[in-house]
Amino acid sequence: MNFNNVNFDTYFKNYPDQNGYFGKYGGCYIEPKLKAAMEEITQAYFSICQSRKFINELRRVRKEFQGRPTPVTHLERLSNSLGNVQLYAKREDLNHTGAHKLNHCMGEALLAKYMGKKKIIAETGAGQHGVALATAAAYFGLECDIYMGSVDIKKQAPNVARMKILGANVVEVTHGLQTLKEAVDAAFDAYSKEYKDSIYCIGSVLGPHPFPMMVRDFQQVVGIEAREQFLDMTGHLPDIITACVGGGSNAAGFFSGFLNDPVEIYGVEPLGKGTNLGDHAASLQYGEEGIMHGFNSIMLKDENGEPAPVYSVASGLDYPSSGPEHAFLRDLGRVKYDVVDDEEAVDAFFKLSRMEGIIPAIESSHAVAHAIRLAKEMKHGSILINLSGRGDKDMDYILENYGIR
Ligand SMILES: *Cc1c(COP(=O)(O)O)cnc(C)c1O
Repeated sequence: MNFNNVNFDTYFKNYPDQNGYFGKYGGCYIEPKLKAAMEEITQAYFSICQSRKFINELRRVRKEFQGRPTPVTHLERLSNSLGNVQLYAKREDLNHTGAHKLNHCMGEALLAKYMGKKKIIAETGAGQHGVALATAAAYFGLECDIYMGSVDIKKQAPNVARMKILGANVVEVTHGLQTLKEAVDAAFDAYSKEYKDSIYCIGSVLGPHPFPMMVRDFQQVVGIEAREQFLDMTGHLPDIITACVGGGSNAAGFFSGFLNDPVEIYGVEPLGKGTNLGDHAASLQYGEEGIMHGFNSIMLKDENGEPAPVYSVASGLDYPSSGPEHAFLRDLGRVKYDVVDDEEAVDAFFKLSRMEGIIPAIESSHAVAHAIRLAKEMKHGSILINLSGRGDKDMDYILENYGIR
């Protein structure tokens, strides 16, 4: 299939290119010292991760530890309540630890082990990436340092407890605003001193090359499984697929299974409280080209050209940019990006819970809301949603701030 002169038959061979570019987006914009470390990871990725041994071990881990494949569920009651369109969900909420993030964390940690590294390092904001990585570290017997701002440590007590129980070392970052940005800086700082014995594990399709590629490839299992399962269940492909986009890892993996198919693809960004800068995190909708955190993409900027403050009820979606591949697929017109605000997401959170017995993560609820909106507009057809995670983590907050709907 061709789209604006890009041939999707050979897409994964050509994108990203050797230097980590998807068109003009991506690349590796970091200090020279860490460039060598990134090159080491890139080399290792192309040799180790393509080896039979690595592939077989990761396949075994996915089956025996993560519980893959996760099912596709027909959302029959929800569909019937909306009309004739049939909705389906790929159930990453049933992946071990309750979200898709473990898919790339297990890949990154296994790579670290094969590279002979003793430690994996990362930052975390809401704690979801930290918990997934701490889980992977425990499984493979690696040390794990998770950098987290003091403010986030207080807000995310259950995830801090999980990381500690799993044996990770939670490093408190006490300077600046004491949240994610400072945690990223502190973690990178530590990594530049420890890169001989450790690797940095990025939590989405973000950061310098090779991470946007590597994380997408590790998440590709979601799209490959979903395509096969959907074909098995229905005898055809879905008309539309949709997924939420924070950094964009669950969407990138899910979409990759369908890029070369006659399927309409949507990424859903959080509109939060509205269109004013600072009230949302819809970077692909309202942002402009710029470089941050080591890569070129579309980002939300403040008046000084720095990453703008962002907001969403879903803390997993509030990032001022998106992975470079999403910017590329947007420009090509292969994937369309739409927005859902807090209210619509919370409505969908309750709808899916009430009608299907599935409490979705508030991040995933953005994709559910989007599918509900499309289903009301269409006369017939099918929509496959990537349900990126489960909503246990969000229940208290939603009840406190929105009440029962
Ligand atoms: C972290 C998270 C997201 C957002 O991250 P992406 O990289 O955009 O996928 C979405 N859903 C859940 C459940 C998450 O934990």
